[in-house]
Amino acid sequence: MFSKILIANRGEIACRIIRTARKLGIDTVAVYSDADAASLHVAMADEAVHIGASPVGESYLRAERIIAAAKQTGAEAIHPGYGFLSENPNFVDQVAAAGLVFIGPSAASIRAMGLKDAAKRLMEKAGVPVVPGYHGEAQDIVLLATKAREIGYPVLIKARAGGGGKGMRRVDHPDDFSEALSGARREAKAAFGDDRVLVEKYVDKPRHIEVQVFGDNFGNAVHLYERDCSAQRRHQKVIEEAPAPDMTPALRKAMTDAAVKAAKAIQYSGAGTIEFIVDASKGLLADRFWFMEMNTRLQVEHPVTEMITGVDLVEWQLRVASGEKLPKAQDEIALSGHAFEARLYAEDATKGFLPAIGTLHHLRFPETAPAGASMRVETGVRQGDAISPYYDPMIAKLVVHGPDRASALAALGEALAGTEIAGSVTNTAFLAALAADEDFAAGDVDTGLIGRKQEALTAIALPGDDVIATAALAAADVSIPRNGSDPWSSLVGYAHFHAGARRIRLKAGDEEIAARITARDDGGFDVATETGVHALRAGGGKRLARWPGHVTVFAGATGYSFGVPDPLAKADDAGAGVGNLRAPMPGLVKVVRSVAGDVVVKGQPLLILEAMKMEHTIAAPHDGTIAEIATEGAQVTDGTVLVRFAETEA
Ligand code: ADP
Ligand code: ADP
Ligand code: MG
Repeated sequence: MFSKILIANRGEIACRIIRTARKLGIDTVAVYSDADAASLHVAMADEAVHIGASPVGESYLRAERIIAAAKQTGAEAIHPGYGFLSENPNFVDQVAAAGLVFIGPSAASIRAMGLKDAAKRLMEKAGVPVVPGYHGEAQDIVLLATKAREIGYPVLIKARAGGGGKGMRRVDHPDDFSEALSGARREAKAAFGDDRVLVEKYVDKPRHIEVQVFGDNFGNAVHLYERDCSAQRRHQKVIEEAPAPDMTPALRKAMTDAAVKAAKAIQYSGAGTIEFIVDASKGLLADRFWFMEMNTRLQVEHPVTEMITGVDLVEWQLRVASGEKLPKAQDEIALSGHAFEARLYAEDATKGFLPAIGTLHHLRFPETAPAGASMRVETGVRQGDAISPYYDPMIAKLVVHGPDRASALAALGEALAGTEIAGSVTNTAFLAALAADEDFAAGDVDTGLIGRKQEALTAIALPGDDVIATAALAAADVSIPRNGSDPWSSLVGYAHFHAGARRIRLKAGDEEIAARITARDDGGFDVATETGVHALRAGGGKRLARWPGHVTVFAGATGYSFGVPDPLAKADDAGAGVGNLRAPMPGLVKVVRSVAGDVVVKGQPLLILEAMKMEHTIAAPHDGTIAEIATEGAQVTDGTVLVRFAETEA
């Protein structure tokens, strides 16, 4: 076994790998970018090496710096985690050339599966069922359109270099083919630098079911059952589970056999996942599943497999990479109970899952597992850490396990309802709505489920009057909240000395809410809102968080955030009275639409900021004359002035 390894990743997966390494007595080296200098994975590792600036291209994707860090610290092997360099065969070659071990498959295995078209041709040859379609080299549009017609609509155009759901277009009618093709090509070119595509049959009532496989360097390969990842939005996984609901013995046998066959066909070593698409329109049938792609790495959702098999997949990765044989034979791997994983993200489900950033001023996960279940919270952040625009905005993965699907799902609902996050918008309420959905609960899932019900699943529940009253009372307290301190301390004193009423203004979005608070003789408070008077007490088990300028009240899995206008902040605002425009987040100034001297009107688009992999149009906040404007191509940080307006005579 290794005595020291380097982890070429960040966030929850780096922390998760460190935990297993520590269990096995292996020292760990973390690498980090500027943005991650104070992050959890750095704090957890035995040593840490700074590898560059925050953008991934200047740090986590810099193979030579990562390898140098390993050499310099005496690490013997590199674990790539997922994403970043994990499926880059050139990196694997470089690691080997430096005399280090790559904890993962061979470069040849990664190359064999790296492009979806070549992988499909290879799998066809190995006798693995493959989605019917065209996986050839020729790419002219007439040929592709003819192939699409032969395959039969609907078809799916897919970037051969694709990943993360990018470069994919479903086409329902021949008339739409050429436009969809250009769209897929454009996206593929931008994301992967490769615009070649394949065309395949769009499977009816598709379910995404994948098989975890594991191989060693002695020709052994086993499977660790399946995971169902059909709950997807825009082809990205949202809640995963194992085993698949209503899996039949016949289909499981056929799929796991095919998966092991696929792994053996490429002499696969380490952890891998064979993704299949299943036509569930007539139930789960043993001849209605097809190979989609292989992910030659540890998968984000690997914990659900660990929960049902009791296997530590990272431990197996370390053992196999250090030259040991697979710890278990196929017949020693048993399946027990049911597990779910929910991916908690900083994103706005109500705005098309727009990624968000922010400081996690309040972050609390349930401390104990719901009754009868076990739970794992996989996270790379602590309270006070920030979700930055540089990386995937994942906050945590909530993983639960119960004796059966119903109890595990109930546990997931409870775990989500017990999660409190304030400081950034999150998808917690959306995940809870999905976990509570009747079709999802019945196991009647397919990849279209979320899309069909998106409106209901992402509807914003309005805060109840009791929530508003609680927020108003919390806002009336002026003590500075500190981690773990009683958020009500000054309010209690206030009650003793102030008999009169106090007016509170809250902001919910653009709306202003007024409340009036009076102290009662019994030590409680009457909070009058537009709709009624609530008798409340300070403290007393209310779930809330106060953070700069805000109060968040938690009800179930929903966090209701209110702005608390701060009378002291007024003076500051006045200083910037002309309303200079600042960058809401770090990013790249992509397009500039105005020049100094322009007279602009409120709402007029002035520039486009690219941040969080999306484009944000920045509009004029008021009428005015531009004195100065950012230059195209400039990299700006949070708060940088993008537009300075000319002083106006008051
Ligand atoms: P999975 O099925 O495991 O979600 P994906 O291919 O969608 O597989 O990506 C796995 C994870 O790796 C994603 O959640 C994403 O956060 C991360 N990832 C993918 N590509 C990159 C990249 N280029 N840089 C950083 N992270 C990435
Ligand atoms: P990526 O590399 O982006 O993960 P995949 O080939 O794994 O690409 O496909 C991503 C998702 O797209 C799948 O999980 C599935 O939901 C959907 N999908 C892929 N192929 C098909 C198909 N032939 N029919 C229906 N849905 C598909
Ligand atoms: Mg995939």
